[in-house]
Amino acid sequence: MTDPRCPICWSQDCQEHYRDPDQANIRLHLCRNCGLAFLFPSLSPEETRRFNAESYDYGKAIFIPSVHQKYRQRVKRQADFITQHLPQGGRVLDIGCYQGDLLQELHERGWQGAAIESSGQACQFLKENRPHIAYHHGFVEDRPFRGEYFDLIISSRTLNHILNPVQFLADLVRYAHLQTRLYLEVSSLASVLSQPGVESGNYFKAYHPVVFTMLTLVNTFNRAGWGGFLHLDTITDSEEDTVYLRALSTLSIGAGKRAVQENREILEDYCQQVLACREKKRQQIESLRTEHRPFVTWGAGDLALRLLGEEALAENPNWLGWIDSHAAKWGSRLLHREILPPARLKDLNPDLIVITASPGFAEEIQNAAREQLPQAKEVEFVCIG
Ligand SMILES: [Zn+2]
Repeated sequence: MTDPRCPICWSQDCQEHYRDPDQANIRLHLCRNCGLAFLFPSLSPEETRRFNAESYDYGKAIFIPSVHQKYRQRVKRQADFITQHLPQGGRVLDIGCYQGDLLQELHERGWQGAAIESSGQACQFLKENRPHIAYHHGFVEDRPFRGEYFDLIISSRTLNHILNPVQFLADLVRYAHLQTRLYLEVSSLASVLSQPGVESGNYFKAYHPVVFTMLTLVNTFNRAGWGGFLHLDTITDSEEDTVYLRALSTLSIGAGKRAVQENREILEDYCQQVLACREKKRQQIESLRTEHRPFVTWGAGDLALRLLGEEALAENPNWLGWIDSHAAKWGSRLLHREILPPARLKDLNPDLIVITASPGFAEEIQNAAREQLPQAKEVEFVCIG
């Protein structure tokens, strides 16, 4: 393995600031020159391309009904924001559009849409359902749509997936005329502090090799030849979650130093929160062991296996068994117990339901569980995601 090197300014003066407690290969470094936060080691360019083309699920949570509704509202908010700033419409290119929901929304408002999309499945959907969107199945570096210009280029939550963001943004310049606006949305480093519960401390993902803040983002754009920004706008799903860009200006001197300091402080806070969450989880597991309350686990995935296997709760006589929402898992056995459908919950009659899934699913699971239990039954939920 070579030494870490900043993917933006190529400085080798980089330091590890955070390591995932569960995945030792997820190590967040800060560049001491420009302040960028990035993962090292990262996936190779081939692994990154393959992952983006075949495995990335676009946050599969968006297909859950309650989450899908929020997702639809977000798409609408994005389109509102865009049409508010560019009421005249025009040609739009969306990089990583997935099924083209935002392009569709803009199409209905008079825009003409094109896309570069790496997922074959998503392109199939576009072909069958949205024939008015011209798409290229592949990547920006393939340089499709040669010689064409767009009035708006969208990169919504795509930039975090890119190993070489400067090159990526420089490739986009070829589609821009002088008035082209860029609509950009990224996960920002500050959002590690506001994610629900922080829970497990594994916010950083191998397929998100770079994590921006406003300062490091502006620096990246300058290096790619886009100039700077007059104004960066934040319209958040949750506090500090995403940033949206509007117009142009320049980066102030000393931004690198400030970015280093800012990111260091965010990561120190994050480490503290992760430690606190893990301590809470430890206490929850301890009380499962000592309180002698009959419980079921809901969610028969990796999290549950870790909890029941490594923490040895599977031998605990109070564990009544598995429930899972997905029919595909019903009837198979894990740790010598059959995985049961939600309808069997009343037979198990637990006092406590331990949700072993990511906190984003907790509300959905609680509602599903209440539907199965008699109204008078008092049951407590604990989420150990
Ligand atoms: Zn750097």
